[in-house]
Amino acid sequence: MRVCTLGSGSTGNALLVEGPGGLLLVDAGLPWRELQARASRAGFSLKGLQAALLTHEHSDHVRGLDPLLRRGVEVYASAGTLRALGIRGTALAPGIELGGIRVFPFSTSHDAAEPVGVRLEANGSRVGIATDLGQVTSAVLEALDGCSTVVLEANHDVERLLAGPYPWPLKLRILGPEGHLANEDAGQAIRLLGDGVREVLLAHLSLENNTPSLALETVAAALDGWKGRLYLTYPDRPSVVVGA
Ligand SMILES: [Zn+2]
Ligand SMILES: [Zn+2]
Repeated sequence: MRVCTLGSGSTGNALLVEGPGGLLLVDAGLPWRELQARASRAGFSLKGLQAALLTHEHSDHVRGLDPLLRRGVEVYASAGTLRALGIRGTALAPGIELGGIRVFPFSTSHDAAEPVGVRLEANGSRVGIATDLGQVTSAVLEALDGCSTVVLEANHDVERLLAGPYPWPLKLRILGPEGHLANEDAGQAIRLLGDGVREVLLAHLSLENNTPSLALETVAAALDGWKGRLYLTYPDRPSVVVGA
């Protein structure tokens, strides 16, 4: 599987996974034209796109959904997410196969109806995706364990968030158990997962409460001796393509 984020963060999330049987889109938070342009910039064509998997119903993950539905792209999400969106689609079940990729959803702690992360398996390789989570629960660690490629949220620096311009209710929401993951917590999670993780894409960075270098430095500081590689993702352009 090869993996690439086309956009990441509160301005719009979309991620491509290329499996043995075609392309899978995870989240649809970008307009169709933008998806196409960024996919081609990353070396992919969306012509063969058949399925979109949604992690939850927040607008930064579903803003670009309508054009996909009009194009007949099959939508997969948890039953709660489908209900919250009021759309038809297929409820995710463990082991469901999309484009030759077996999908194992797991619950994430986030203030949406029924948010999920996913572990994807194909040809003996495993990819884990967990963004939009207030905390790394044991369910998340269990799901990501054994994934050589991980896409993990590194949303904010706690001090920067506390000192920043957001109103208090929003700060508390982000910091809360159903909010977003701090850089430090992302680092701790990767440290716990250990050297089985070969590469990590740090995702959903806040533009206000984080910087790319702060995210990289803070996560790296928690990873003394870890042998994998960290990569950034971007709100306005594709990330590197990772996976094998
Ligand atoms: Zn989000
Ligand atoms: Zn969200």
